Amino acid sequence: MTVRIRKIRCIMTAPADIRLVIVKVETTEPDLYGLGCATFTQRPLAVVEAVEQYLDPFLRHRDVNEIEDIFWSSRMSSYWRNGPVLNNALSGVDMALWDIKGKRAGMPVYDLLGGRCRRSADVYVHASGSNIPQVLDGARSWMEQGHRHVRLQVEVPGQATYGTASDLQPGQSVDGPTTPQSMFEPADYVRIARRLFEQARCELGEEVELLHDVHERVPGPLMLQLARDLEPYRLFFFEDPLPPEEIDHFRLLRQHSIIPIAMGELFNNPNEFLPLIKERLIDYIRIHMSQIGGLSAGLRLAHLCEFFGVATAWHGPGDTSPVGHAANLALDLCCHNFGIQEFSPFNEATHEVFSGLPEMRDGALWPSSEPGLGVAIDEQAAARYPYPSHPFNNAWPAIRRRDGSVVTP
Ligand code: MG
Repeated sequence: MTVRIRKIRCIMTAPADIRLVIVKVETTEPDLYGLGCATFTQRPLAVVEAVEQYLDPFLRHRDVNEIEDIFWSSRMSSYWRNGPVLNNALSGVDMALWDIKGKRAGMPVYDLLGGRCRRSADVYVHASGSNIPQVLDGARSWMEQGHRHVRLQVEVPGQATYGTASDLQPGQSVDGPTTPQSMFEPADYVRIARRLFEQARCELGEEVELLHDVHERVPGPLMLQLARDLEPYRLFFFEDPLPPEEIDHFRLLRQHSIIPIAMGELFNNPNEFLPLIKERLIDYIRIHMSQIGGLSAGLRLAHLCEFFGVATAWHGPGDTSPVGHAANLALDLCCHNFGIQEFSPFNEATHEVFSGLPEMRDGALWPSSEPGLGVAIDEQAAARYPYPSHPFNNAWPAIRRRDGSVVTP
């Protein structure tokens, strides 16, 4: 019997204070539904509108089996495509349809996609701090828990540094207060990052794999200097050294440094990442799966990368929902060219809202064996964690250089 889409709606929840968008696809079978991740945490309400005002009416009564056609017809129906809002909306539906297909088949999604080629997926975790000893203490604590891969980020003293748990308040206008707390100077950062890794190798030993995220904050020439400075400390990867607008610069980086390069959490459009893959200018693809349209898009990309020796390292911080993590993990398990998975542990409230979450142990993520993506949501619990009220709807504030000019976030 044909099972059809009855309704598509969004569940908005923030159990870890991060605005998640979960898409629920309900079907003509009363107990059969699917969940997908459509989280674009800086613009979640725009995604909700795209799902409920456009995809829901467009896709009602469609056969749930037709994932590929639903993916392509939804993309084409807006004419203009490949942007973050519409890609996230599509991802929510796409992942939910894979979830439904797995439930109907009685198989986890990784079995539908060819089956596991590894038992679990190695993860890297984050060690951050306001000074180097604090970062290294954090790394040691992860290593004692069995982790083999740790990302290190340290605050430039008194500056709004990416990846550190500071409560610094970036400035909001060019003429706003140019306090140290509102600013970021790339040269100061490059100096401290080199010291961080020099000390880390010395104190943490040779075996642990160390990672670092530049977060597109350093201009080209300084970035090249940093890449060379960090080479002796044998990083697992050097992430997002440049903004997506500067992908031509990767050729220069490849010519001048042997550091392993990870790139891509900001990519939305295939034309952004194709040149880097086909010219073998990166080693790890770091895409946020919902930003390119979901599991169907991620699967295609992973297989493409396999032919060019590029490994996957799907973006997986707190603004990937548990459903998104389950989708990442499904590909981690069934794609041979898996590299590493980023992961931040779920807090207690997230466990209250979601069940069937991937489990982290021995430095790796282990999947649920439930059919589909394996994750369920308690909607009453989700409603207990509404979106927090933040200035400008939680959009990121501007980070500025000493002279007041804005830097990439
Ligand atoms: Mg990153």
